[in-house]
This record gives sequence, structure tokens and C-alpha cells, in this order.
Amino acid sequence: MAQGTIIKVAGPLIVAGGMADARMYDVVRVSNSRLVGEIIELRGDRASIQVYEETAGIGPGEPVVSTGAPLSVELGPGLIESIFDGIQRPLTAIREKSGERISRGVEVPSLNREKMWGFVPKVLPGAEVAHGDVLGIVQESVVVEHRIMVPQGVAGKVKTIHEGAARVEDVVCVIEDAQGKEIPVTMLQRWPVRRGRPYKEKQAPDGPMVTGQRVIDTFFPIASGGTAAVPGPFGSGKTVVQHQLAKWADADIIVYVGCGERGNEMTDVLMEFPELHDPRTGETLMKRTVLIANTSDMPVAAREASIYTGITIAEYYRDMGYKVAIMADSTSRWAEALREMSGRLEEMPGEEGYPAYLASRIAEFYERAGVVKCIASNERLGSISAIGAVSPPGGDISEPVSQATLRIVKVFWGLSASLAYKRHFPAIDWLASYSLYVDSMQDWFSDHVSANWNSMRAEAMAILQQESELEEIVRLVGIDALSWDDRLTMEVARSIREDYLHQNAFDEVDTYTSLEKQQLMLQLILAYSHKGHDALKKGATLSGVLNLPVRDRIARAKYVLEEDLNDFDAYESDLNSQIAALTDEGGL
Ligand code: ADP
Repeated sequence: MAQGTIIKVAGPLIVAGGMADARMYDVVRVSNSRLVGEIIELRGDRASIQVYEETAGIGPGEPVVSTGAPLSVELGPGLIESIFDGIQRPLTAIREKSGERISRGVEVPSLNREKMWGFVPKVLPGAEVAHGDVLGIVQESVVVEHRIMVPQGVAGKVKTIHEGAARVEDVVCVIEDAQGKEIPVTMLQRWPVRRGRPYKEKQAPDGPMVTGQRVIDTFFPIASGGTAAVPGPFGSGKTVVQHQLAKWADADIIVYVGCGERGNEMTDVLMEFPELHDPRTGETLMKRTVLIANTSDMPVAAREASIYTGITIAEYYRDMGYKVAIMADSTSRWAEALREMSGRLEEMPGEEGYPAYLASRIAEFYERAGVVKCIASNERLGSISAIGAVSPPGGDISEPVSQATLRIVKVFWGLSASLAYKRHFPAIDWLASYSLYVDSMQDWFSDHVSANWNSMRAEAMAILQQESELEEIVRLVGIDALSWDDRLTMEVARSIREDYLHQNAFDEVDTYTSLEKQQLMLQLILAYSHKGHDALKKGATLSGVLNLPVRDRIARAKYVLEEDLNDFDAYESDLNSQIAALTDEGGL
């Protein structure tokens, strides 16, 4: 094992000599306090090491010992409901051991070693098993069944299999390989965070990750296994969007990586998340969540690692066959950590001081998302959907982190400060946002929601675009220059915005809308539009069409309960009879 000596300390970066035997990305223990670090550059026998803990008081001459292993996470029961820091130290357990401030060099294992889990075997002695096959299950939380899989590189015949209570390090299965060697398998496995976990093959996503958020599902859907970015200035609703997704998105497991926003903001997340209510189970959301938290008062290097720690845990649950959603908030803070480390390494800076490899690092993260055929003897699909919040300074997305992100993700939910200012929430700008999944998901929507879904979506979007053109005309020459038809179009657009896109996250009913209800709501607005324009042609007055009593129902359609969707039939017939009355009388 390589052992060297510190030559220089520069904040989170230290340089050690005598490290010729070490390897790139090996984890090292630095100084007599045994701080955790990682080799990020090797030149001759000199290693540059990023240290994940506060380095104050550490000086030249102190020892550096390589562990001979890359930065890895522990995978096994106990991940769910945990709050970890960027290198998977369990924050709750550490707090219990060393108080509010994390003291240096504390060694608390990531997963609890004492806790007993009820292991339920899924194979019998004599069964042939290979990498990825499920040996048994453990009820990790009320909602998550943890599947214990055969580790990579292991295959053979099950010799013994355990049943009942076991700790993560207990042997639950002995597998005899082809050479007759007995391999003990525990529930605890390790995986190096910078290397993606393997899968059989990646598949193109074929359906949306339904979120119950109308502007997202209808206009800018994200695929299950897709990637999205939410850039937006402060106060524009990024956090609420992420919380809504965590609560409502069609995902089994949530991994939330909170990356060094101001210290107190992360505390908010830490406090709030456990209190979020999981609508599916009635339990707290933590029962299917893994939280990774780095506040800005934690060392910058740990922030850099947090995103890899998070995605590796996400991959592990994906491999069990789950739909996982990972949210990173904010990737800008992560990129700043990258920039700081790069600066200390005295690398050649690229745009705005970010390292030249910024874009490839961002791409590497999002590329670990996707739908995959898992490695296992029987067919199993798992997926990771990755959603990154970006917080560009001043909300200007021309900066490098936003740009690099937009080149790789397929969905862009652009939050707009002016919409937020007008209290239009979610403040996702319908003219600036996009989803590249819309085309590939058309068949899914027409098969699963309704045959006219795609045309309705296109029509509603066209009306919104028309509105912005008409607004321009109104600005120039006034509303009187518009025809009645155009004025009706503007009213319909307003209805789409206010009655449809605007969605109150804090209203019990409005917070989630099923696709079926989205379809009914949009259909009603568009039926009003068609019939209204028709009535104008037949001689009805504009005020007659604008003042139809049914418009009040359209405005309140969002509050119709999911079990009362039949009410929409009555709305539609009200609309028909009121329009008929208009044209029969030649206008009100
Ligand atoms: P950011 O994280 O971008 O700074 P937040 O997500 O904290 O912004 O949102 C700021 C405020 O906007 C929230 O406290 C809330 O009052 C309001 N808000 C955001 N989204 C919604 C929503 N969907 N429904 C209702 N209010 C919202």
C-alpha cells in the first residue's frame, strides 16, 4: 500500500510525495487525523489529493496512506430513509456520535452494522445463479422491498441460503462456483462511484414519467428514464417543482442530491423532506427516499463527489428493477466545486474559469440515466430519470453550466421570473421550454390517454403562440384593432394559462391531476374555443360568447375530484346548450 508524506496543503487540495505506488482515484487517509481524500492527479511520485474534510491545521510532513481502493459507496439495506453527505457518511448517525459539527476523521460506516433485517430467501439450495439474480428480499421500509442480488463476478450453485434476521455483514448465501470455490455473499456490497454500474442494454424510453403536473405532462413531458433540467432564478419555484416531482412522479425510489446551496437552505430541505407526505402511501416521503446533502459549509470536494454517490445509489435500485428518479439541486453548485478544485490544480481554465472538461462531466452524469435491461437471468427492466436544477447567476442561461446541461438533457423546463412575479405557478415558461420526447411519446399518449391527445396538445400550444403574437399587435395598435375571432382566441389562451397551466402545489386537489383529468380539462377548453368561434360565425356577439356561464365551470374544473370525472359530461352538455341558446337567439 502506498504511503507518502504531505508536501503542501492548499485548502481542500493537498500534494503528497512518495506516492509512486498509488493509483489515480484511490482513496487515501491524510495525516494523523485520517481525513478522507481521493487522488485526482498523479505526476511521478507526487499525488494531488482532494480532501473531503476540513484541512485546517494539517501540515507538511504528515503521512498519507492509500487504501488501495477507489471512492466507493456501500450498497445494501438501510440506504432508504438515510441522510448522507457527499461521500456517503451517514449524517444522522454522525450527529449522534459527534454532535452538530461533523468532527474530522470520524469513522462511522455508511450502513448500520447492527440493525437486523428480515431476510426472505428467493432461491433454494442447488439453484444456479449469476450476477444480478435476486437471492432474497428484505423489507427495507414499509414501501420498499430491497432485493439482494448476486454481486458482479459471482456465479455458481447456491450451497446454503439464510432465512430470517441478519445484519448487513452477515453471510446470507454461500455460492459454489465452477471451480468448487465457496463464495460467501452478504447483503452489503460496494461499488466505485465514478464507474457506472453495468446493465445488459439500454433501451429507448417508451413512456412518460407521469408527474400530475399539467404543464409538464401535457406540454413538456419527461420520459420515464429521461433527463430534464430546471434552470431558474431564485424564488421562481425550483424547489417546489422538485418537491412536486418527488411526491407525485411515477417513480418507486427518489434519490435527492442537495448540493451546497447556502447552509440554511439545505437545512430547509433536510427538515422539509422528511415531513413531505407521500400521497401514494400516506407515509412520509422518506420511506422511499435517499437524501444526500452537502451544505456550502461542508468541504467543496465532498460536494463534487455527491453527484456520483447519488447516481450510483440510483443505479443500484435501478438494477433491482425499480423506476428511480434522481434530483440534483443544484448542479451549478456542483460545477462551482469542480471549478474550485480545477483552479487549485492550476489546470488551464476554460469558459468563465470552469475546467475544459465541465461539459463532459455533466454529460457523464446525465448519461447514467435511462431505461435498461438489468443484468439477471430473467428479464427485468429498471430506469433512472435524472432531473437537475441549474441556478445560473442572475437567471441568465447563456452561462457555461446551463449551456452544457442543455446540450445533453432532453427536456428543458425554463422557469421565468416574470411569471413567478405574477404568481403564475408553476412558473414554467410555455414559450421557452421544450421536451424532445414529445414526438417519440405520441403513440403512448394516443394509446393510453386518448386518440386526440396529440392534436389537442398541438392546438393548445398553437393558441398560446398566437396569443403572444396578438399581444404584440395589441401593444402597437390597441385591442380594438383585433377581430372578434382574435379576441376570442386571446380569451381562450388566457383560459389555457389560468385555468389549465396554473396549478397550485398547495391545494389538496389541484396539486395532482391524472392524465385522464388533464385530457378532460383541455378538451373542455378547446370545445369552448371551437364552439365559440362557430357561434361568432353564426352571428353571436363576442360578449355573448365571453360571458357564457359555463366559463365559470371551466375555471373551476381543476378542483373536480378524480373520482368525479363524470362531472365533465355535464359541463360539456352545459356548454352545448348555452352555445345553442346564443345562436338561436342571435346573441344574448
Ligand atoms: P426557488 O427554489 O426557485 O428559490 P421556491 O421553489 O422556493 O423557489 O418557490 C418560491 C415560492 O413560490 C414558494 O414559497 C411558493 O410560495 C411559490 N410557489 C412556487 N411554486 C408554486 C406552485 N406550484 N404553487 C403555488 N405556489 C408556488
